[in-house]
Amino acid sequence: MLLEDLTWVEARELVKKDPVVIVPTGSTEQHGPHLPLKVDIASADYIARAVGDRTGSLVAPPLNFGYSELWWNYPGTISFSAETYKAAIHDICASLIRCGFRKIFLLNGHNPNLILLQAAAYELIDKYENQNISIGAGTYIFMAKEECDKIGENFTDGTHANEMETSIMLHLYPDLVKMDVAKELGKNYKMRRVIAFDQGAVIVNRWPDSDVYSGVYGNPSLASAEKGKAYLEALVDKISEFIGNFSEGRYNPSRPEGVPAEGD
Ligand SMILES: [Zn+2]
Repeated sequence: MLLEDLTWVEARELVKKDPVVIVPTGSTEQHGPHLPLKVDIASADYIARAVGDRTGSLVAPPLNFGYSELWWNYPGTISFSAETYKAAIHDICASLIRCGFRKIFLLNGHNPNLILLQAAAYELIDKYENQNISIGAGTYIFMAKEECDKIGENFTDGTHANEMETSIMLHLYPDLVKMDVAKELGKNYKMRRVIAFDQGAVIVNRWPDSDVYSGVYGNPSLASAEKGKAYLEALVDKISEFIGNFSEGRYNPSRPEGVPAEGD
């Protein structure tokens, strides 16, 4: 069910059922020379709608912009600053909480957003601490890592514009994927990252340069629409299971095991 399709009277009625509200968040940013700028939000929105259908959750309109400062010198990228992004998430959640919704899940398509989602969640819990609210956030790619690893090799060379994202877009928007360009990239493929994550440290040296670097992690020439369908099925299955548990308060760390949540 999509929040944007309801009237305010219907929304008021729905609050009484205490549904999870899924908020899709992603980015509008470069995804290599072969994919459109909307990959992160298009995939998060698709998964959110499918999970919403499966679990009876309400899906809020997607937030198309995220924290994409890394790719500022790749034309087409539109980035919020960290402060603006966190404030936007805060305001969206605060609006839902003021309506009476108590369970919010931020379904993220762009991993650098995640730390800011966590920061916004802390602020909200602080602000509305007596209202029994629960806020969850997850980057979809990492919520079904084990299942997705069985379909392709996505996590060895990074997860941006790679085989997985290219496959998902081939399944959802085949006309927007330039597979001839992806095949060309695959011919000279060498692993290259612009940020290093080694021994638990994040190492940042400089902004990536669009004149010398395509903006792709991993090898997108291995992508196929069939793999994209399989990835989406695995993701929707796993995230639906998660949302079911989240809805029932099973992940509430303040609730000892076996003790029902307040209001159960
Ligand atoms: Zn992406």
